[in-house]
Amino acid sequence: MGCMRTVGSLLAALLLSRPAAAQQGGIDVKGYMVRITLSDSGHAIHGEELVRFVRQASVDSVLALDLVGMTVDSVKVLYGMSRRFTYDGRLLRIPLPAGPGTDTVTVLVEYHGTPQDGLIIGPNARGRRVAFADNWPERARFWLPTVDHPSDKAMMRFSIVAPAGWRVVANGRLHLGEHSRDWVEDHPIPVYTMVFGAGEFTVSKHRPVINGRDTIPIEVWTDPEDSAFADSVPFRRATEIVEVMQRLIGPFPYEKLAHVQSSTRFGGMENSSAIFYAEKPYVERKMREGVVRHETSHQWFGDAVTERDWPDIWLSEGFATYFDGVIGAALDGDSVLANAMRANAEDYFKSAVTDRPIVDSGYAADPIKLLNANSYPKGAWVLHMLRGAIGDSAFFRGLRTYYRTYRDSTATSEDFQRVIEKEARADLGWFFHQWLHQPGYPQLDVSWQYDAGARKVLLGITQRQKPEWGLFRLPALTLEFRGANGATVRRSVTVSAESRETSARVDLPVAPAEVRVDPDATLLLRVTAISRR
Ligand SMILES: [Zn+2]
Repeated sequence: MGCMRTVGSLLAALLLSRPAAAQQGGIDVKGYMVRITLSDSGHAIHGEELVRFVRQASVDSVLALDLVGMTVDSVKVLYGMSRRFTYDGRLLRIPLPAGPGTDTVTVLVEYHGTPQDGLIIGPNARGRRVAFADNWPERARFWLPTVDHPSDKAMMRFSIVAPAGWRVVANGRLHLGEHSRDWVEDHPIPVYTMVFGAGEFTVSKHRPVINGRDTIPIEVWTDPEDSAFADSVPFRRATEIVEVMQRLIGPFPYEKLAHVQSSTRFGGMENSSAIFYAEKPYVERKMREGVVRHETSHQWFGDAVTERDWPDIWLSEGFATYFDGVIGAALDGDSVLANAMRANAEDYFKSAVTDRPIVDSGYAADPIKLLNANSYPKGAWVLHMLRGAIGDSAFFRGLRTYYRTYRDSTATSEDFQRVIEKEARADLGWFFHQWLHQPGYPQLDVSWQYDAGARKVLLGITQRQKPEWGLFRLPALTLEFRGANGATVRRSVTVSAESRETSARVDLPVAPAEVRVDPDATLLLRVTAISRR
């Protein structure tokens, strides 16, 4: 997602919401099918949900669904005819009679109540009554009974009964039945992206073909007053953005893409095939394309390939932060990415999380804290440095393989590393270890001295960062030497992680007047001093 707006209420929601029912032994949800009835006024909803799941259990077991603060009217295990359940206001537990070794079970849950969070119903910035789901990270449970954890993705079908005159948008494609207008998502998606939005929208459709290539249907859903602005500024190149990702990574993972002005508390929320954006930047005419690039690239990374657990969230946010810049570069030139990476480095350096690693199990139970400068800008830098280390060809081949392999599934950092190592034909354990599991970044003192007789520069490089951050290996640190006449020569040296001091000698025909370290800013590092000995 994009930037966060209100942390306070989200934290309160999280404190109320744990522990999760996630990752129950032997139960794998395949699909949810839910009918939600919205009232003509007020905040109450009524829900009927079918949960279809596979279980590996020949003994009695329990399906535990996260559901907070609702009233459960009835539960029925289909075909088994059991109607037993217990509900403590947080967890709906449904006992399942013993079955064969592996079987598919469907449960029908009927419930009602006023969601405390997760489904926001009320007036929007234009004063219209609207309803929007906003689930991240574990807030679906306030309105939708689910196994509320990214590890258990499932198909989703929404049937929304809304007040007269409202339009409804949700994940997937619109399925028009005789008596229904359902939204059907046939791909397994994470629960945190299972959403619908309902209100009096204006919908515009964008052209589906770019450079002779088909993309997918792209729609922009807004308040009527904001439609012209949305189409001409932030979403002007919505189709081009999808086309760049298809060209670089692979086919768009879903049936359509709706960009929706909404009540999300995030700047943007990458819900699968129905991205929700905060409404205020529309109203203030401040919304720009960057958030569209970020959220669109999440459809591949985060939605189609989902982090299996929260500590690996950089697989979602680091990728989207990087692809904001990569797509920008593809559309407008390389300086877009260079500028983005400079800003990412500054954001990370000045952040409060430099003492923690990217893959941070310390926050696993508190995913909101993972929306930090490690997951976003440093995660983007990991990809940028990986690309520099193995080259464009292996990097993008690796990303395509990773997407193809884990699409509609979940992945870990180790899964990503395995794919990349295979494509690059290299052991990159040191790279992933130092950048994902070590905190901090290299801070370098560089000293130099020219030996005119030998025509060599003698270099001393000291890693000055805190000892707790550890030492970093930099196999190709570029140094640029500028002579008195202004001519520049570049040399590459290897900085070792074996000791704090690295010394090197490089050939140089003339004495340098000035030395620059990593002149193209290809590495996440800070030069703390450059001195002539
Ligand atoms: Zn994001």
